[in-house]
Amino acid sequence: MKCPFCSSSTTKVIETREGSEEINRRRRECPSCLKRFTTYERVEMNPLIIIKKDGLRESFNREKLKKGILRACEKRPITTEMINIVVDEIETELRTKKSEEVKSKNIGILVMRKLKKIDKVAYIRFASVYREFTDIDSFKEELNKLS
Ligand SMILES: [Zn+2]
Repeated sequence: MKCPFCSSSTTKVIETREGSEEINRRRRECPSCLKRFTTYERVEMNPLIIIKKDGLRESFNREKLKKGILRACEKRPITTEMINIVVDEIETELRTKKSEEVKSKNIGILVMRKLKKIDKVAYIRFASVYREFTDIDSFKEELNKLS
């Protein structure tokens, strides 16, 4: 996506809103001239079905994914923008896979990998909900791996 003002080839997405008819509205900012503009992008991505732990299937819900991450990042120095980027990256990664079905477990692993790089506390929080540590020892073990 080129900046319409200075033609810089990199622009930053600062906000994404899912619209109807599979058109996403994105607010972008150009890091070179700092101007902001809006793009409307038609989404042409693979459909995505999530296989939950109990074997039930549901269609991928971006908001749901975001909520889970937001919960882990509560009161942490992580901006909404960073969370949006993480969600974007995960969604793109999932939708560009060959398979249209993905296990919820694998999404959790993706989220953990991303959070680990951003914030250890958020990572541990997410991991503790997600992995459902069976005992305190396995939780401590995970903590130790990080320190
Ligand atoms: Zn620009």
